[in-house]
Amino acid sequence: MENIYLTPEHELLREQVARFVAREVEPHALAWEETGNTPREVLRKLGSAGLLGLMYESEYGGAEADALTNLVFAEALSQSTFGGFIITVLVHTDMASPHLHHAGTPAQKARWMPGITAGQTITAVAISEPGAGSDVAGIRTTAKRSADGSEWILNGTKLFITNGVLADLYFVAAKTGGEGRHAMSMFAVEKGTPGFRVGRALDKSGWLSSDTAELVFEDVRIPAGHLLGEESRGFYSVMKNFQTERIALGAMAIGHCMQALRVTLEHVRDRRAFGATLFDKQVVRQRLAMLDAKTRAARAFMYHCAWRVARGDDVVQEVSMLKALTGELVNEVVSGCQQFHGGMGYMRGTVIERLWRDARVLAIGGGATEVMLDEVAKRY
Ligand SMILES: Cc1cc2nc3c(=O)[nH]c(=O)nc-3n(C[C@H](O)[C@H](O)[C@H](O)COP(=O)(O)OP(=O)(O)OC[C@H]3O[C@@H](n4cnc5c(N)ncnc54)[C@H](O)[C@@H]3O)c2cc1C
Repeated sequence: MENIYLTPEHELLREQVARFVAREVEPHALAWEETGNTPREVLRKLGSAGLLGLMYESEYGGAEADALTNLVFAEALSQSTFGGFIITVLVHTDMASPHLHHAGTPAQKARWMPGITAGQTITAVAISEPGAGSDVAGIRTTAKRSADGSEWILNGTKLFITNGVLADLYFVAAKTGGEGRHAMSMFAVEKGTPGFRVGRALDKSGWLSSDTAELVFEDVRIPAGHLLGEESRGFYSVMKNFQTERIALGAMAIGHCMQALRVTLEHVRDRRAFGATLFDKQVVRQRLAMLDAKTRAARAFMYHCAWRVARGDDVVQEVSMLKALTGELVNEVVSGCQQFHGGMGYMRGTVIERLWRDARVLAIGGGATEVMLDEVAKRY
C-alpha cells in the first residue's frame, strides 16, 4: 500500500473508478466540451455503479462510507483530464447533495435521496450571487413566509451555478430575515417550480464540459417543508458543507497536477532539442522533480485532512490551508508543465492546454486563496 491511510477496499474503489474514467469519459469528453455539459447518462451510469452518495445512508442507496473513502473516489475521478466532467460529478456528490444529507429530515431524504444516489436527480448548490461570492453573508436573495405560513416565497438571482442548467434539484441560500450570518436559511427548489428559471448559461475559459448558469427566482412559491435544516442556521450549514467541498476541490487540484506531470514526463522523454531529449536537460528534469515533490507533499496533507475529518475532528483551519495550497499549486504545476510542451502546449485539443485552463478556477471557486488564508490566520 503506497499510503498509510488506504485499505485494500480503497484500492478496489480506485480501480473501479479508474476503469469508468478510461472507458466512459476520456474517449468521449472532447465532444462534451463542445456541447458545454456532461450528459446526464454519465451520472446515471455512475449511480448504477453505486458511486454517487458513498457517504449516505444505505436505505437511500448510499454506502455509509467515511471521508477517506470519499476522498479516494474524488481523487480517482480527478485522474480524468477533463475538469468539466469532474466538477459536474463532484458538485453533485460533494457540494450540493451534502446539504440534504446533513440537514434533511427523514421525509426530505426519502423524497430526494434515492434519485440522487441513482444519478436520476442531478443537484446544484446556489449560494453565489452577482453582488456576493466570497462574502456569503452578503447575499440578497430573500425567502418570506406566505400569509398562511404554508409556503416560502423566494426572490433573487444566483450567479456561477455549476449544474445550473442540468440540475433537477437546487439547494438555495436565501435571507429569511435581518442581516448577516443569522439571517440565512437553505431551501430545496425543484426544477419546474413556477417563477424559477435559468437566466442564461455562462461562457467560461475552462471547465467547458460543465454547465454554469445564472438562476432567477421571481416570486417562487415552495412548500414550507422545503426549508432545509433550521431556519436562520443556513450560514452554518453552508460553512459545514464547505469542509467536504474543499477536500473534493483539493482532490481535483492534485489530480490535475498528477495528470500534468504524467503527460509532461512522456513528452520531455520523447521531444528532442539541441541533440538530446528535453529530459536530458538538467534544468527540465529538476524542475519537474520539484513540482512532483510539492504535489506528493500536498497529497499527503490532503489524506491527513480527510483522515481527521473521518475521526470527527474540527479541521476548518487545515482544510482551508489545503484549499489555498492546492489551488495555488495546481496553477504552478500545470503552467510549469505547459512550458515544456512549447508551442504545442498552447494549442486547443492538447491535454496540457485544457488542464491549464481548467486549473485557473481552482484558486477562485469554492473559496478564493486569500479568503482561505484568512480562515487559517484567524484561527492562530
Ligand atoms: C466556474 C465557476 C463555478 C462556480 N460554481 C458555483 C456553484 O456551483 N455554486 C455557488 O454558489 N458558487 C459557485 N461559484 C462561485 C464561486 O464560489 C465564487 O466565484 C467565489 O467564491 C468568489 O466569489 P466572487 O466571484 O464573487 O469574487 P469576489 O468575492 O468578488 O472576490 C474577488 C477576488 O477578491 C479577492 N478577495 C475576496 N475577498 C477577499 C478578502 N477577504 N481578502 C483578500 N482578498 C479577497 C479574491 O482574490 C477573490 O478572487 C462558481 C464560480 C465559478 C467561476
